Amino acid sequence: MKKVLFVNVFGQGHINPTIGLVKELMNRGEQVTYIAGEEFREKIERTGATFIGHRTITHDKQLEVIDKLKEAIEQIIEAALNANEKYDYIVYDSVFFIGNELGRILKIPAICSITTFAINDKTNILGEEFKKFDSMIQQFSNSPIYIDYAKHLKEKYGIKLPNLSNVNTGSGMINIVYTSRYFQICNENFDDRYKFIGPSIADRNEETNFSLETNDKKKVIYISLGTVYNNNSIEFYESCFKAFGNMDLNIIMSVGKDTDISALTSIPSNFIIRNYVPQLEVLKQTDIFITHGGMNSANEGLYYDVPLILIPLSVDQPAVANRVAKLGAGIVIEKDKVTAKTLNQAVVKILSDKNFKINSEKIGESLREAGGFKRGVDEILNLCKVYDEVAAVDNKNSI
Ligand code: UDP
Repeated sequence: MKKVLFVNVFGQGHINPTIGLVKELMNRGEQVTYIAGEEFREKIERTGATFIGHRTITHDKQLEVIDKLKEAIEQIIEAALNANEKYDYIVYDSVFFIGNELGRILKIPAICSITTFAINDKTNILGEEFKKFDSMIQQFSNSPIYIDYAKHLKEKYGIKLPNLSNVNTGSGMINIVYTSRYFQICNENFDDRYKFIGPSIADRNEETNFSLETNDKKKVIYISLGTVYNNNSIEFYESCFKAFGNMDLNIIMSVGKDTDISALTSIPSNFIIRNYVPQLEVLKQTDIFITHGGMNSANEGLYYDVPLILIPLSVDQPAVANRVAKLGAGIVIEKDKVTAKTLNQAVVKILSDKNFKINSEKIGESLREAGGFKRGVDEILNLCKVYDEVAAVDNKNSI
């Protein structure tokens, strides 16, 4: 039995794919401690892992985010370095850009968990968006706040901050990527240290008050813009009402925890609207998924062979959307072209052209065959075994 430290800094989308891994590690006798934002306590504790909460980081004013992030990073470092028992390996989200440094200092294997497409210097998935981010990042890297912070981490803990432009690349000894090699963009650029295990589809043990309540064999459309970018989407939801209210379809819509459902007017009778739904359960019964193209949502939809209509809003979503369209498994609607008409046309097109379904099934098959969390755990345990063997040889040679 080994002791595992999991680290995550924010986002449902960064946590969810790790749940299956955590449960499987524990099934195989490992002991897991999981550090994440306090808001995820319940979700993580339900897996049976020991939870350590750090300050929740919300997406509000930039300076406040930086302060909260610094505080959270400090809490994570302290928890990792000053634990009562020694951890045997660390699994960290790629956004936690000093995870490999913690591994180096603790002299344990460091495994990176990548919840978007894998990125490296030959594969920049953010395209034009990246240029915008890159100049912001460069500016931030040269700012006194950053320089002082880097100095502080170096002096207090011996941690070196990486070049911020590369923070999302796989910096682990192995990198667990929750998609298939087939779906990965520019997959030829990624060597064997990248383990494409497919989406981590595990029972999330979620308690929600959701039931489909339909047995009428009508086609089902599921609509969700994810958990982060769903604010201020009332206009979009109303376009959906107009687009599908008169169609002979069942519509399930997840509007996010901050949307006041009672403020939505003229909800058509074929809509079921919730703040959060058990997405994996819903997808099993879905014929078309209208999504913002978050990596998890796209992978989960395709895992169940569901064609997608993608409305990319930010970060990696345009890349995900383009990849789905390129492989013929969905249609992209640019966010400023979303109207009742374009939504309706996209649905009609997918329902009338069976190639969308065939191509979704092709990606779905690659995702199911990638091995999921069971393979993820095999890869992690294999790395630890090799690491121990090398360490044993090194010890022997130094005697
Ligand atoms: N999700 C869910 N129910 C909902 C909305 C979202 O279970 O009603 C889950 C979804 O299954 C996925 C995650 O939340 O695992 C969203 O991640 P994604 O990367 O798609 O988008 P983000 O929320 O990070 O923008």
